[in-house]
Amino acid sequence: MAKTRLVSVHPAGRDALPSVDAIVGRDRPSEPLLCLRPATIAAAARDFVRSFPGDVLYAVKCNPEPRVLRAVWAGGVRHFDCASLPEIALVRRLLPGAEVHFMHPVKARPAIHAAFHRYGVTDFAFDSADELEKIVQETVPVGLVGAPLVLGLFVRLAVAQGGAYDLSGKFGVPAMEAAALLRAARPHAARLGICFHVGSQCLDPGAYARAMALAAEAVALSGVAVDIVDVGGGFPVSYPDATPPPLDHYVGAIGDGAARFGAAGLGATGLDNGVRLWAEPGRALVAGGGSVVVQVQLRRGDALYVNDGVYGSLSDAGRPGFLFPARRIPVDRAEAEDAPLREFALYGPTCDSADHMKGPFLLPADIEEGDWIELGQLGAYGACLRTRFNGFDGAVTIEVADPPMLATPGYG
Ligand SMILES: *Cc1c(COP(=O)(O)O)cnc(C)c1O
Repeated sequence: MAKTRLVSVHPAGRDALPSVDAIVGRDRPSEPLLCLRPATIAAAARDFVRSFPGDVLYAVKCNPEPRVLRAVWAGGVRHFDCASLPEIALVRRLLPGAEVHFMHPVKARPAIHAAFHRYGVTDFAFDSADELEKIVQETVPVGLVGAPLVLGLFVRLAVAQGGAYDLSGKFGVPAMEAAALLRAARPHAARLGICFHVGSQCLDPGAYARAMALAAEAVALSGVAVDIVDVGGGFPVSYPDATPPPLDHYVGAIGDGAARFGAAGLGATGLDNGVRLWAEPGRALVAGGGSVVVQVQLRRGDALYVNDGVYGSLSDAGRPGFLFPARRIPVDRAEAEDAPLREFALYGPTCDSADHMKGPFLLPADIEEGDWIELGQLGAYGACLRTRFNGFDGAVTIEVADPPMLATPGYG
């Protein structure tokens, strides 16, 4: 875990948050600067909550930084999708009013036990009969017959991947097996759900429609009704090479799927559409709300050696090859609007040759040692993936007033 410390740059409070340029001009940071945009995160959360016809669970793994969690809460999100006991403890401590859900399909017994008995978590995901048995055993006092049902049980379905990142390789079962698990879970469940993940950064709303259809098939095969369909995460944001369809298109595809669910009588809630919808967005709520400022330590042709890299906040710029928006911060120079740009690759600070980010990052052709670069859309899966490898652990986190470096249609 990277050490972050709060720099008191805004004594007058949130209204007086500084700009990235002002901070960099003043502090001339030689360590990476992680810039959080709380207003951007809150706005993205607000828009998602407003658009999505169901409960919105923030996927905590995407960025568990306390200031991010508070901004998501400020945007109206009241549910948190946690995958570990430390995430559960963090949310409980910071946001006592939050609803916490334990949606990792494979959990340690002590984690299940503590989540239920210590933190009051009642919702659990699973994708095997063995895991269901663990959940039932660790949550119900042994030998207690006739105890009221309190568990929310969610079967993770494997679906075709529509996203840039596969999230079905490890978890999720085919429809036939999901049906058997739904049947097995129903007697233990106060509420029964089916969940899936179409893959992160999913640019195709149709992937949700297809997943909903498969979920309906699994429920029909099971012969039991479900209360909740949890469509997972995967909602995309803009990157330099991708402008996603507006959020409405996703909501439309999911809503159509839910209606068919209702029409087929597969829902148990008695709501209009027969099922309650949940979503677990991570990236969509927070990506635009974070950027990283790095400093150039050496230029060699079209390669820039900078002070953060794939073992730091820029993991996704490495092998996954995500493109991030980049700009030079105009310190001690007036940046001409029409300064010629050139494509650069970046190298991070560690000694591993894998610490390479091929980009291309579009930057002024005359960029040189000492210049600062801001890389955007890094509020998701950025700072939370930092390691201390090779001793590079000096990043500082601050809050800024800047808008996101790229807008995403529909929210944020
Ligand atoms: C990672 C994850 C999410 C969040 O995914 P995004 O693509 O960031 O929206 C949601 N649910 C589960 C189960 C996850 O593993």
